[in-house]
Amino acid sequence: MKILITGGAGFIGSHLCKKILDQGHEVLCVDNFYTGSRQNIFDLLDNKNFELIIHDITFPLYLEVDMIYNLACPASPVQYQRDPVQTLKTSIHGSINMLGLAKRTKAKIFQASTSEVYGDPEIHPQDESYWGKVNPLGPRACYDEGKRCSETLFFDYHRQFNLKIKIGRIFNTYGPNMNIGDGRVVSNFIVQALTNKDITIYGDGSQTRSFQYIDDLIEAILKFNQNTSDELTGPINLGNDKEITVKELAQTVLELIPQSNSKIVYKNLPQDDPKQRKPDITLAKKELNWEPKTDLKEGLAKTVDYFKKALNK
Ligand code: NAD
Ligand code: UDP
Repeated sequence: MKILITGGAGFIGSHLCKKILDQGHEVLCVDNFYTGSRQNIFDLLDNKNFELIIHDITFPLYLEVDMIYNLACPASPVQYQRDPVQTLKTSIHGSINMLGLAKRTKAKIFQASTSEVYGDPEIHPQDESYWGKVNPLGPRACYDEGKRCSETLFFDYHRQFNLKIKIGRIFNTYGPNMNIGDGRVVSNFIVQALTNKDITIYGDGSQTRSFQYIDDLIEAILKFNQNTSDELTGPINLGNDKEITVKELAQTVLELIPQSNSKIVYKNLPQDDPKQRKPDITLAKKELNWEPKTDLKEGLAKTVDYFKKALNK
């Protein structure tokens, strides 16, 4: 099959490109390097089944493909707030362009949605039936509302044009190929600890997240797209349901890097930062016959090894 992966040079996209090439498919990786890098896909560039197309998906794209994974969009709050209008264009115009491409080619299309559609949730853990609590005017809205609108677009194309769609709501995922300057909490804490800089906890560190290792996510995405019937559109939560506080994460990172001289410092909590987040993964377990396997310490240790190499430590 000829498979298009938008955002293929990013953190998740680069792992997905590699796995799909390993399965023997052809991969068209589309990326504008907004947050992704050539380095992430460097090992794939001379594979005869891999093609890199430098393109911004907010502009139309005409290709012949059998399947589309739409991952293009900055995912780190720092990065998506850097150019909020472009973030919205990527989620909305970009989704319309990719859905149009799927409609013309009759390709199945997967959307990388997010736990952010639940905003700062009032129910805990979050299951797929919860509509969320999002501030439509705040600094995170460019991402949250953009992703919510793209889910709406996917469902309208599905109902109106019979498009085959799959929506995965991805919860905080980490691992190798995250950018050193990405700005998300796992990469920030590891890079800070390895470079003996202060570990920056925002707020008092009592807010929670549930961290999923990249290999578990890739397995779930592939099972969802390759092993389930077209009737199963999702949305399906894809995450790890082991919840920890940000402060506990900082302490765990420091335990894994005992040579670090870093001290924990407390900074202001950003506006609308969700207080708690944990997926209900009942649906994914049942429909995908999947559950996350990687323990946090094991996944963090692999990520530390990656950043040691990336930083020449
Ligand atoms: P990332 O920033 O590493 O990757 C995003 C990629 O998309 C980058 O390579 C970037 O250059 C590219 N891109 C951005 N705008 C583009 C555009 N207009 N045209 C073409 N390419 C563009 O982030 P990631 O963590 O790999 O996230 C990938 C997808 O998964 C995103 O859609 C994100 O919203 C979703 N997601 C990720 C997480 C997570 O924890 N990593 C959680 C929820 C959802
Ligand atoms: N965070 C932090 N220090 C950092 C980066 C993030 O304390 O250097 C906090 C952030 O405020 C949030 C959590 O860690 O409560 C997760 O942030 P991230 O940016 O990774 O993603 P989010 O889940 O908020 O989209």
